[in-house]
Formats: sequence, C-alpha cells, structure tokens
Amino acid sequence: MLYLALFLFVLALLFLFQGNRQRRESGLPGGRVVYTDTRAWGEVEKPLFWAELGLTGKPDYLVEREGRIIPVEVKSGRTPEAPYDSHIFQVAAYCLLVEKTYGKRPPYGIIHYPNRDFAVDYTPALESALLDELAEMRRDEVRTNVQRSHEDAARCRKCGFRKVCDQSLA
Ligand code: SF4
Repeated sequence: MLYLALFLFVLALLFLFQGNRQRRESGLPGGRVVYTDTRAWGEVEKPLFWAELGLTGKPDYLVEREGRIIPVEVKSGRTPEAPYDSHIFQVAAYCLLVEKTYGKRPPYGIIHYPNRDFAVDYTPALESALLDELAEMRRDEVRTNVQRSHEDAARCRKCGFRKVCDQSLA
C-alpha cells in the first residue's frame, strides 16, 4: 500500500510538472463549462485500482449518467478560466480507472471548482498522453538523477521534497 500511495503522490507531482508541457505539445483539448447537479453525486468509498499499471486513485465522486459512470474531482481555491493541465491529467487518470474497474469508458470527467465546473472529454488523444506520462514516470522511477522540468521557484516553495531536492529553486 505504501508503494501505491507513493506511486500516486509521484504521479500527481509529475502531472503538475509535466502537464503543461505535454498538453502544449499534444494540443489536447481543455475543459468545457458544464452545469452539474451536486445532489446526484455519490461519494467514492474505496480507491479504484488497475493492477496492470499498478495505478490507483480515488475520485471525489462518481456520477451515473445515461448508463455511464463519470468521475468528478473537486478542487478548492481560485476558479481558473480553464482547468489546469495537472487537473486535466488527474481526471483523465480517473476516467482510465473507471473504465478498467467498471468496463465502460466514461466519455468525460468533471472538474468541480468553487465557481465553475468543466467537463474534460476523455478522448483517445488524452488517454494516449496519459499513458505516455505514466510510462515516462516509470522510467524516472529507476533513474538516479531526474532533472528539474521547470524554472518556477513558486513550485519549489510549495513542494514537499524541497528540503531534500538538490535542484530546488527555493
Ligand atoms: S523542490 Fe525539487 S522536486 Fe520540488 S518542485 Fe522544486 S525541483 Fe521539483
């Protein structure tokens, strides 16, 4: 379990660092604003797990719509004009887990910010970018020296690895 928790943490970190770059390169779509009725949302009790990739994750909610199961990720803080790339990849990972767990592919996932909701289409391009990220992450796991992928000191200030990272900018 510790390994899985660590895996997820590293996944979130890598998505945060690499999401913007990956999306720019692949031209992935952003989210579209949708209306959602939060009364229909069902909380997820157990994490979803896909053994083949050792991937696990727990969306905040799962919503059933027209026979499909839609993952919902709730974010606090400032509502952006468009969803952050790291959040798009996170919801894509939940779509993948929902598909592997329930055998039905969600057409989209939802990111719920305080003032706006976005539907993120779970397209083959997004899935492919996600799988690329996971493969790259696996390669990084066995590297002894992983280079910093950004020049953003603010990220380092908020990073939990700052004290042990020899590439920290803060
Ligand atoms: S402290 Fe290190 S691991 Fe954390 S964001 Fe900065 S460079 Fe990345």
